[in-house]
Amino acid sequence: MKIPANSTQSKKPAPKVGFVSLGCPKALVDSERILTQLRTEGYQITPKYDGADVVVVNTCGFIDSAKAESLEAIGEALAENGKVIVTGCMGVDESAIRDVHPSVLAVTGPQQYEQVVRAVHDAAPPKTTHDPYIDLVPPQGIKLTPRHYAYLKISEGCNHRCSFCIIPSMRGDLVSRPVGDVLSEAERLVKAGVKELLVISQDTSAYGVDVKYRSGFWNGRPVKTRMSELCAALSELGVWTRLHYVYPYPHVDEVIPLMAQGKILPYLDIPFQHASPKVLKAMKRPAFEDKTLARIQRWRQECPDLTLRSTFIVGFPGETEEDFQYLLDWMSEAQLDRVGCFQYSPVQGAPANALDGAVPDEVKQERWERFMEHQQQISAARLQTRIGREIDVLIDEATDEGIVGRSSADAPEIDGNVYVKSQRPVSPGSLIRVRVTDADEYDLYGDAI
Ligand code: SF4
Repeated sequence: MKIPANSTQSKKPAPKVGFVSLGCPKALVDSERILTQLRTEGYQITPKYDGADVVVVNTCGFIDSAKAESLEAIGEALAENGKVIVTGCMGVDESAIRDVHPSVLAVTGPQQYEQVVRAVHDAAPPKTTHDPYIDLVPPQGIKLTPRHYAYLKISEGCNHRCSFCIIPSMRGDLVSRPVGDVLSEAERLVKAGVKELLVISQDTSAYGVDVKYRSGFWNGRPVKTRMSELCAALSELGVWTRLHYVYPYPHVDEVIPLMAQGKILPYLDIPFQHASPKVLKAMKRPAFEDKTLARIQRWRQECPDLTLRSTFIVGFPGETEEDFQYLLDWMSEAQLDRVGCFQYSPVQGAPANALDGAVPDEVKQERWERFMEHQQQISAARLQTRIGREIDVLIDEATDEGIVGRSSADAPEIDGNVYVKSQRPVSPGSLIRVRVTDADEYDLYGDAI
């Protein structure tokens, strides 16, 4: 993503920084933080390579295709501008970057905000003085999402060691942000017009484990650094709160009543990755000793509107046809609403690379196709049950082409949409009631009421 320019100007031109942000929402939040700091120091942000004094590329290093995309983006920035600073997940492997692009000015890793900003200072020194009235930074900081939703990162790093994942080696162990800081940021975002907060981390349900759930303070009152207390406090802000990357630890049960009461969105994004106990063990996945299917049933009894989203990996080393069939049967039982599926591919540095039983590519492809077909039928049938119902829809786009929004069941970018017909004008960020008239595999269609 190339970053939109901020048009603010002071008398003496401020140094200009070009910015390219790649990767997941967590990386996007890192980009927002770096940009906010640079704007605070008076830098201009430009969407063009041309005329930029330096270009920062925030890379993704999660899988090999993301690394290739990152290297390509660095190459493009070097060719177009020549002065390039690399940061983000791929920055932990400096030699992999310098082998291909030896002329980059500096390489820093994820969350190394100070180092990135220092490298920008070296390449393009900041104005010695800047006018705080002209170089204004909004109180909520620079946001790269549309004005009506924002990612709220509650922690960094992860205490687990899933065998296919290199995130802990890139981002370190879990470090929870102070709950008062998280809530104050959420409050600033809401004051700035945000209507939907997307809570993200590597492991949202582990929030506070590292600080033993200690109490922090928000608006003068104590709040525990713990997922359910955080959710209860966020619900007071009167906007949508959506939870991502939740593992099914027992205390997740505590947020279901908040969902049933309409205080936070009835939506859980749980990356199950597989269902076969043998494969899950080889993956070293957290929190799967619990009887997940029984818990899903209980959650749905308590909160019938609950949407469950998940991702899965097929073709993990050692996965047999029996394991795969177990997964399909589990999917039939679990009746998840939204599902993504990836074919396993080795990630450099991940322990799973050493596992026996590599699954041939054609078997991976065949299992992926069977999985998708199986799940599409489930998702489509679940969407059909929503026809005739009235739902709240948050509008993302309203143009001559049409009106597109999302319901509580749809996270931006990854889930479906609701296509709306309305006699009245509606604007992005408005919340309207819609009667659902039709559905397909992914999306709903309806009329504004
Ligand atoms: S929970 Fe597993 S997959 Fe997720 S970041 Fe931690 S180690 Fe990686």
